[in-house]
Amino acid sequence: TAARPAPYLDDLNPAQREAVEALDGPVLMLAGAGTGKTKALTTRIAHLLYTGTARPNEILAVTFTNKAAREMKERVARLLGQTVEGMPWLGTFHAIGVKLLRRHAELVGEPGTIPTGPQQSSEKPVVSSRQLEEDEDIVDTGDQGPYDLGPVPTPPRDRAEPGIDGLDPVRPDGLHLKSNFTILDTDDQVRLMKQLILAENIDEKRWPARVLAGIIDNWKNRAWGPDQVPAAEASAFNGRGVELYDAYQRRLLELNAVDFGDLLLHCVHIFQNYPDLLAQYQRWFRYILVDEYQDTNTAQYLWLRLLAREHRNICCVGDDDQSIYGWRGAEVGNILRFEKDFPGAKVIRLEQNYRSTPHILAAASGVIRGNEGRLGKELWTELTEGEKVRLIGHWDGEEEARWIGDEIEAMQTGSRGMAPMSLDHMAILVRASHQMRAFEDRFLTIGLPYRVIGGPRFYERMEIRDAMAYFRLAVSPDDDLAFERIVNTPRRGLGDVAIQTITRLARGNGVSLVDGARIAVEQGAIKGKGGTALDLLTRQLDRWHAQVVAEADTHVELAEMILDESGYTEMWQNDKTPEAPGRLENLKELVKALEEFDNLQGFLEHVALIMDNESEEAEEKVTIMTLHAAKGLEYPAVFLPGWEDGLFPSQRSMDESGLKGLEEERRLAYVGITRAEELCTISFAANRRVYGQWQSQLPSRFIDELPEEHVEVLTPPGLYGGGYGAAATAGFGSQLEEKASRADAYNSPGWKRMQSRGGAARQVQSPNEVRGLTIDATAISAFTQGDRVFHQKFGYGYVMGIEGDKLDIEFEHAGAKKVVARFVMPADR
Ligand code: ATP
Ligand code: MG
Repeated sequence: TAARPAPYLDDLNPAQREAVEALDGPVLMLAGAGTGKTKALTTRIAHLLYTGTARPNEILAVTFTNKAAREMKERVARLLGQTVEGMPWLGTFHAIGVKLLRRHAELVGEPGTIPTGPQQSSEKPVVSSRQLEEDEDIVDTGDQGPYDLGPVPTPPRDRAEPGIDGLDPVRPDGLHLKSNFTILDTDDQVRLMKQLILAENIDEKRWPARVLAGIIDNWKNRAWGPDQVPAAEASAFNGRGVELYDAYQRRLLELNAVDFGDLLLHCVHIFQNYPDLLAQYQRWFRYILVDEYQDTNTAQYLWLRLLAREHRNICCVGDDDQSIYGWRGAEVGNILRFEKDFPGAKVIRLEQNYRSTPHILAAASGVIRGNEGRLGKELWTELTEGEKVRLIGHWDGEEEARWIGDEIEAMQTGSRGMAPMSLDHMAILVRASHQMRAFEDRFLTIGLPYRVIGGPRFYERMEIRDAMAYFRLAVSPDDDLAFERIVNTPRRGLGDVAIQTITRLARGNGVSLVDGARIAVEQGAIKGKGGTALDLLTRQLDRWHAQVVAEADTHVELAEMILDESGYTEMWQNDKTPEAPGRLENLKELVKALEEFDNLQGFLEHVALIMDNESEEAEEKVTIMTLHAAKGLEYPAVFLPGWEDGLFPSQRSMDESGLKGLEEERRLAYVGITRAEELCTISFAANRRVYGQWQSQLPSRFIDELPEEHVEVLTPPGLYGGGYGAAATAGFGSQLEEKASRADAYNSPGWKRMQSRGGAARQVQSPNEVRGLTIDATAISAFTQGDRVFHQKFGYGYVMGIEGDKLDIEFEHAGAKKVVARFVMPADR
């Protein structure tokens, strides 16, 4: 109908074009990474607007992150060559859920009751006190006005927006949610559950609130209200789960609050309970579009299906190979049953990849082939060959960070023989957030600007701040802010009243809070358990401070001692929630970071500088983020560090009995590799230092699955001087065995396993090989006095003398030791 030709259609291939032009009826775009699904979806929105088929506020478009939503809006505007005023219903599930719920909060009443009766809402929605990331999208822009597309015809405007005119929702008599409800964050949520658990006289140690939070989240993801949880779940949380869920939902209502899960759960229930209101929205949202459909959970799925039932103009795009949120309740089955839900759906498959070079694509395909039950998609590209995927092994995590930092600098200046590349075009994608620390520290040292996406930077994390507060107090007992932070963490029975008492005494005497606490103890101002605990804490603080002053122990030992004695480590060990292991990992990382400094003070200064280093946004920066956060994004150069069993794939996925967890990890590997456009570099380290202990790492089993013809093995720099290169670059060949040298031995686990690729069983290595440190008996001759060496347990040092098969080594941290040469490796200077 449009008079003007649509310019953007020329940028699409025939399959994409079909997806864009088939505006009416259900469409499923099922295709691999980088095939232009998101591009097609975005163009479809532009097309709806350009042809006047829909107004901006009649389009419901769901993206996975706020960043993706912003980008989509920008792209639509670019395609149309004009700014798009208001796409109020383009956002994440959560953002749209909030918006709907603010309009109809009154319809959420006590569990099991459906309110009736007339309603006239005059309450103005306010943004909650808890600022969510979503908030920017929550504020109603009020842009329901006409959308001017110039000569393009627009549809008739005789329809009223739901809930605004016409049929108004009803307000119940009993307890109900109000439109200015607060959204709780995870911490609030858990605190609330803790109160309920304690009120029920349940032993919170054995049945932690975080576990309950996990269970309830899971139920909400399935769209089960308290009265809908199936009987099979009755034993959850020691048989008290459902009852506590019910109590929790009631308590939320009393507080006029919701949690994240409620944003969808309540919407689904409102739609189910108020068919007339649902019908209005069904008519209103004439076109529905969903990106990353493979990661929707059941509640999201129901929400979409309810809304799309009327018009059936729903277009979902996704890739079963990129389903990586199963752990959060996502159901890849949703994508597989689309055709059943929407009979007659047009299914469009895209096979041309526009993002990555052939080697990158082939490497990714090689890995994902290891999964069973895939729909199986073949991808091809017209892009020219490019570089192979690069694989490099390092001694340890620090060296990995150092190498990547150097590499990034070289790429930035163009000294790698390629054209200079902007830092904005490079990304480091990690499996676990604790991996970020080594990069942050290294980049700070060399002055390389970076940004961390999708989570606080390492030193901003809660557990890190807590631990740092303890260290700060040990260094300077007058640090009141630090004291406030930890006085009741872990819980010591010191509530608000006790803390007020301490503050009053400190102020009154003109002393620090620690001294105030001491006075409180002396005066017996705080009774009972809290008083005893405070007494202990002040004594501990004294002792730790004395140790800092006397330099009695190394600062690393002291740090470990502080975390142990304070009960802080234990607090997380007893915590049975999904986040707890990650927090413990981060604490270990923190202690590890300490080893690089002379004392606590120096370390604290370093961190203070890091925190201060928040440089201006305009600057080019390399991006550090998790693989999960990288979904849908693309970068010319991608680094994938830490490909080691136990890290990636995660230990948890390897411990599971079935293959489900491992397959999800493999999809994550596929997501990682396919983020790269031109250059993809995978790395692993033979050793990682965990809690001051060297831990030997095996290269990831996913490395075995990389097709060798698409991989180039790089030589770690410096480690073995000149003699190392040839054997290293021989890579996967069987001649490796013959060329056996120390260098080969170091790398042998990975390469041996590469050779054994294809076999289902993993090759079992001898202990020495597993350590990656096999050196033959004559190796002693490889050392001369003054060599810099590395020892698995004692770290780096210099050879001072040689005696039989033993070496006298002056270790940098461990001091002088006589050690067997077999456990010593040459190291770079
Ligand atoms: P993912 O599965 O990773 O989300 P995707 O299928 O959504 O990937 P897009 O991000 O839409 O893929 O596209 C990948 C890249 O290919 C983008 O840079 C996009 O601009 C480009 N692209 C997509 N389609 C075409 C096309 N027909 N012609 C040229 N470039 C295209
Ligand atoms: Mg995409």
